Amino acid sequence: MEQSLAERYARITRSLPSAVKLIAVSKTRAPEEIKALYDLGQRAFGENYPQELRDKQAMLPADIEWHFIGHLQSNKVRLISPFVHLIHAVDSERLMDEIEKRAVLAGRRQDVLFQVHIAKEETKHGFGPEELRALLHRSDIEDRWPHARVRGLMGMATNTEDRGLVAYEFSGLGQLFREIRDGGRLPAGQFTELSMGMTSDADLAIASGSTMVRIGTALFGDRPPKATP
Ligand SMILES: *Cc1c(COP(=O)(O)O)cnc(C)c1O
Repeated sequence: MEQSLAERYARITRSLPSAVKLIAVSKTRAPEEIKALYDLGQRAFGENYPQELRDKQAMLPADIEWHFIGHLQSNKVRLISPFVHLIHAVDSERLMDEIEKRAVLAGRRQDVLFQVHIAKEETKHGFGPEELRALLHRSDIEDRWPHARVRGLMGMATNTEDRGLVAYEFSGLGQLFREIRDGGRLPAGQFTELSMGMTSDADLAIASGSTMVRIGTALFGDRPPKATP
């Protein structure tokens, strides 16, 4: 028998360690579905499309913590910069420059994660591990982007049935995260978040130190296709 949203939500929240935050991925979901989960107590929601997020934000409760988890183009940052809680997938310095600029205009600090490319697929975005180390060593991040605050890393594993490969990729990202966190380049207590794991691989991500899992399908069921923008 199919479970209700409340049953699925209870099962997922029970299964997560208390140190792991659930981001409910609501891309392509109707505002009513988001509100139903909100009424069950969920406050952190993840979206992938800037326009869709902006429209939903305007019609849903103001205390929702919105996470932007998709690939973000520089020219779309302005749509979400007034309110977005955390941008998970920053993958270029140019995007950081734009986030900095928009944060100043919006009069706020903007928390972000750097996306790391860990998958075998070319289509996935992100800094390479070496590129990221070089970036963190080269520049004084605080001076360059004083309003865009790097809170941690995000990564997506290869989309594969091979759980061994996924575990291997997450373990590498976990190591890189701890190396940077413990490396003392950023202010103490700032670099604390590791966003990895979705419906199919959250267990493996948690085993490698994830602090945020981004779960859509296991909560809401199979996704309707995205309407053309
Ligand atoms: C859609 C999406 C998710 C959620 O995927 P599910 O398999 O539905 O849990 C997580 N992260 C990102 C970046 C996504 O685009």
